[in-house]
Amino acid sequence: MRKPIIAGNWKMNKTVEEAKALVAELIPLVKDAKCDVVVCPPYVCLPAVVEAVKGTNIGVGAQNVHFEEKGAYTGEVAPDMLKSLGVQYVIIGHSERRQYFAETDETVNKKIKAALAHGLTPIVCVGESLEQREMGITNEFVALQTKAALYGLDAADVGKVVIAYEPIWAIGTGRTATAEDANETIGAIRRAVRDVFGAMVGDSVRIQYGGSMNPKNAKELMAQPEIDGGLIGGASLKAEDFDKVVNYD
Ligand code: PEP
Repeated sequence: MRKPIIAGNWKMNKTVEEAKALVAELIPLVKDAKCDVVVCPPYVCLPAVVEAVKGTNIGVGAQNVHFEEKGAYTGEVAPDMLKSLGVQYVIIGHSERRQYFAETDETVNKKIKAALAHGLTPIVCVGESLEQREMGITNEFVALQTKAALYGLDAADVGKVVIAYEPIWAIGTGRTATAEDANETIGAIRRAVRDVFGAMVGDSVRIQYGGSMNPKNAKELMAQPEIDGGLIGGASLKAEDFDKVVNYD
C-alpha cells in the first residue's frame, strides 16, 4: 500500500510572518490527516516554518536546490544547506523552473541525485504541454521525461522519490485533467518506472497529481487507484483550502 502524500507548493508567495501565520492555522487542521502532509515555502521562510512545525505531522520542502555541493554559484542553495535546516523534501523540475529558469532533463537528473545523496526526498515534476496533449503524445512524453529524470539512479533510491504528474496546461489555470485522464497518465509513468527499475519499485513509487487540484476535485482525484496524492499550488495558500484537500475524505 502506498501512503498518499499531499504537498503545498507556495511558489513565490508569503513573507516570513505570513508563512508563520499560515502554518499556525494549518497545524491543528491537518493533525489527524491520513496522508503525509508537506509544505514548500520560499527559501527565506524555511527556517521559521521548520521551527513552527516541529513535533507536528507536517513535513517541510524547498522548491528548488542546486546540484553542486558548494562554490561560485551566486544565488543558489546546496542540498546540505537545506538538510542542515531540517528540510526533508525538495521539489525538482517544476514546469515553471523548466520554462522560466532553463531547467533541463539533465539538470533535473543531477538535482535528484544530489538531493538523494543528502537524504532529501525529491518531488520530481513531469508533465506535458497542451500542444503535446492535443497531438496525442502525452503518455510517451511523460514516460520519456520520467526515464530521463531518473536516469542512472539505483532502484533502491527510486523507491524514495515522489513523482508529481503536472500537466502544464492545468497549472494555475483552473483547468484540471479529468480524474480518469490523470489516472491513465500516472499509470503510464508507473509503467515507465517498472520498465527500467522493476515491478517492485514501480509499484511502490508514489505519484501525485498536480494542476488546479482544490477542495472541490480532490476527493474524485484521490479516489483513482494510480493517484497517490497531490502537489497543490493555489489551494495551498489558505489554511482552510489546504485543509480540505488534505482531508479529502
Ligand atoms: C503547482 O504549481 O505545482 C500547481 C499544481 O499549481 P496549481 O495547484 O495552482 O495549479
